[in-house]
Amino acid sequence: MKAAFAQLIRTLNARGWSPATSTNYSFIDEHQQCWVSRSGVHKSDFTEQDFMTIDSTGIGTGMFHGTKPSDETQIHLWIYKNFPEAKVVLHSHGKYPVLISQFNEDFFPVQGYEIQKGFKGCLSHLDSLEIPIVDNQQDMALLCHQLDERVSAIQQHCFIIAGHGTYAWGATLFDAQRHLETLDYLCECEFLL
Ligand SMILES: [Zn+2]
Repeated sequence: MKAAFAQLIRTLNARGWSPATSTNYSFIDEHQQCWVSRSGVHKSDFTEQDFMTIDSTGIGTGMFHGTKPSDETQIHLWIYKNFPEAKVVLHSHGKYPVLISQFNEDFFPVQGYEIQKGFKGCLSHLDSLEIPIVDNQQDMALLCHQLDERVSAIQQHCFIIAGHGTYAWGATLFDAQRHLETLDYLCECEFLL
């Protein structure tokens, strides 16, 4: 898991989705232990050694006690709490969702794309989807409060933070990657349109 995940993180970096040490990633292992990417590591150099264990409040545990993960770890914990099927969470600073958030408020509406079916549960390009957009906040408690208010609108295993990036998740690394790539592709199409 860690090796495949680290490879994916480097692949996403090569696409320009995590410049300047930005973004963060996490997964829950078979023992229900949560692992997050260490902050401050350039994602082009990310290896399986760069995941750290945290407790349910986001504090480093075991050999990582005293190591502080990204503040955005609180968003990962919020996702795991509210979407129990999630075992992998990916965060991206890809440009197209950021650009889309400059032209849409509250929701990114999308319909008519075959790739929508990349979202688990979406069966037709005719489905009318709305991907929630929340305001960016440096205070993670405020950000999670906004997410609490929008939780029922989060239907496609992802959301956008305005001017910032996206979060996407899934039961597996494969599903989480598919959801992230689906959202990015839709944002690119609509922005270029
Ligand atoms: Zn970020």
